[in-house]
Amino acid sequence: MFSEEESVLQSSLITREFPSFQQLNEISKYLRLKTNQERINELALINETGITEIMWRFIRFHLEEQGVIVDLKYCPGNDRLNEAFQHISEKITTRIKSKQTKLTLFQEWLREKEYCRRELVLKHFGESISEKNDHCCDICGVELEGYFATENSYKEYRFHSWQTELKSIFHI
Ligand SMILES: [Zn+2]
Repeated sequence: MFSEEESVLQSSLITREFPSFQQLNEISKYLRLKTNQERINELALINETGITEIMWRFIRFHLEEQGVIVDLKYCPGNDRLNEAFQHISEKITTRIKSKQTKLTLFQEWLREKEYCRRELVLKHFGESISEKNDHCCDICGVELEGYFATENSYKEYRFHSWQTELKSIFHI
């Protein structure tokens, strides 16, 4: 169900979602070359700095928030660019940390051998199980025989909405 190799991969995927320090530097350099008359060519910027469109949107959002970019034009004439990039750097660090914490929690849940998986999920959302189901989870024990007891309903299986499917998987 879970391998350590995948764990490293998942971690690196989280980091790769965000621009690296070097990429932030590239963008900063790119913007410094612009005057406030010139509209930023987003496509060129993305191509030249090698960031993804999603990364750029994230950076642009914060640069606009800090007033460094207005109407897609770089507003020089103050030292806010360094501050803004410092701010973005901190945001990225926080976001990566928060995602890694969530990933760790999820991995712990996968490794869990003692506590009911359903209870742990509910606990995460500040809730508890009101009624224990006969076929709860792999830790509480699911008897396949009993699980497929209603053979007919199994045969008639049709895919419903994902909400309905989830409900039926967790018997809620
Ligand atoms: Zn359980």
